[in-house]
Amino acid sequence: MSNPNYGVWRPMAENVEFNALESNSNAVMAVADTVRTTLGPKGLDKLLIDQAMNRHISNDGVTILLSLRAIHPVARMIVEIAERQEQLVGDGTTTAVVMAAEMIKEGKRLIKELGVHPTKVVEGIENGVKHACELLEKEAKSVSVADGMLDRIVKTSLSSKLDGQKLASLVISALRSVGDNALYNNSYDFNKAIMVVRKTSMEDKVVNGIVLERKRMDPEMPMKVKEPKVIIVKLDLKPVKESWLKENSKYEDILNMENDRLVKAKQIVDSILATNANTILIASPEVDQVVEDLLVAKNIFAVRISTEEIEYLSRYTGAKPVRMIDDLKNPDIIGKAGSIYEQEDDQVICIENASAQNMVTIIVSGTTKETSLERWRAVIDGINAAEAALNKGVVAGGGSAELHIIEKVKNLRLKGLEQVGLDVVTSALESIMRQILTNAGFNGLEKVMAAKASPEGFGIDINTGDPADMWKMGILDPLLVKTMALKAAGEIAKSVLRIDRNLAAEDLSQQAVSETRR
Ligand code: ADP
Ligand code: MG
Repeated sequence: MSNPNYGVWRPMAENVEFNALESNSNAVMAVADTVRTTLGPKGLDKLLIDQAMNRHISNDGVTILLSLRAIHPVARMIVEIAERQEQLVGDGTTTAVVMAAEMIKEGKRLIKELGVHPTKVVEGIENGVKHACELLEKEAKSVSVADGMLDRIVKTSLSSKLDGQKLASLVISALRSVGDNALYNNSYDFNKAIMVVRKTSMEDKVVNGIVLERKRMDPEMPMKVKEPKVIIVKLDLKPVKESWLKENSKYEDILNMENDRLVKAKQIVDSILATNANTILIASPEVDQVVEDLLVAKNIFAVRISTEEIEYLSRYTGAKPVRMIDDLKNPDIIGKAGSIYEQEDDQVICIENASAQNMVTIIVSGTTKETSLERWRAVIDGINAAEAALNKGVVAGGGSAELHIIEKVKNLRLKGLEQVGLDVVTSALESIMRQILTNAGFNGLEKVMAAKASPEGFGIDINTGDPADMWKMGILDPLLVKTMALKAAGEIAKSVLRIDRNLAAEDLSQQAVSETRR
């Protein structure tokens, strides 16, 4: 808002920039300003336009940041933070960015105006963040899959998204269908259990099983197999290679090879059929036409799959992937499901109701590619929020949990000037509620004061502007989203505040290489 340069990187006129802190923090602020207005349920969207005039409307912090062009190298650190937050917890990216910007702003003030040495500020941030995370952990309540609180968490996470409430119910129904089947080593991993597929031609829905965006290998194969016996093959299904035929010009050699091809193809198909399987998921790179024809003749349902899909298809159906012809003799290679069928109009294949009830697929529609992409991202955010909540618990949302630990963070006694570094952290803790409320059209600061004077767990009802109990209203955030965002913000603030010069350098990619050689 206040920055004329919008975080764009302009090469330095001199080889050294003495006022690096000023320049770097301006750049960070400018980039943070582009996403801070999206925070919370009343946050606004951004229209992204590229040089070819392609457009995309987004409310998602990471998406917006990643699509910015030519941004300042220091501001790029902000983008990296958001990306890391997205990878680690999958939600709370804007929160991380807003807190990082606030820390840098406040840190700069301490350094420039009060003359505090950057290392003192950095130490204060380090201790403050650690302490704040511990306090948040103490506040957290645990949640289970059956708990109604889980619904509220997903709804809170999706409240700022396009179609948020409808998407929330899809996510919740998917979460409940897999339930504790998504437990791996005592923690929930929905990455393994819920797939999210974008499909503009279909309605939103949850399918109890796996949906492949594929057609059958051949249109003459059966459309549907009930209670299929499934095998997954990664066998060499092209016994005679095209190149061999090309290399030989003698008619007799070619004839021999063609015969060989028929014999070998038949052998392969016979050994496959001997397993009693009637459905084949093929991950082999090439499939001989003769093999395909024989499978059609035997009325087998066959579909190509990618190597990456083997793992979960195997887990879902119980089929053990077969890599060698000899392995076809093993008794445990066959997997099962309730049905497998192609939905011709939508060009998808569904595998439903396998005995291991551990996978569901959410189909996300959208009238345009862009809305379906945005809805798809929102669904994934919701799943991630639920996973984080189930694994580590929840705290009061709307910036309330952060706000009410401020006094306790201030009570942490540090030696000397490090104490002022704590202010950097407390400002950041306050900034979340302030931003959410500013975005909702209120005087953020005034409302934050009102919330502060209310009991723990209270925030502001964004519709009325009055203090309200966030637990009662069901506005809840996963603890992990909060602590990760706080830690990430602290990391970047520490890096930026410690820099006092920006220097023009020779090719640094070379330096990175020599370092790895050492
Ligand atoms: P992020 O990218 O950080 O996830 P969001 O735009 O999803 O940003 O906003 C998340 C914040 O909005 C959380 O702090 C959450 O508690 C808050 N929030 C969600 N719904 C409400 C609500 N009804 N009232 C107040 N705050 C809300
Ligand atoms: Mg969010």
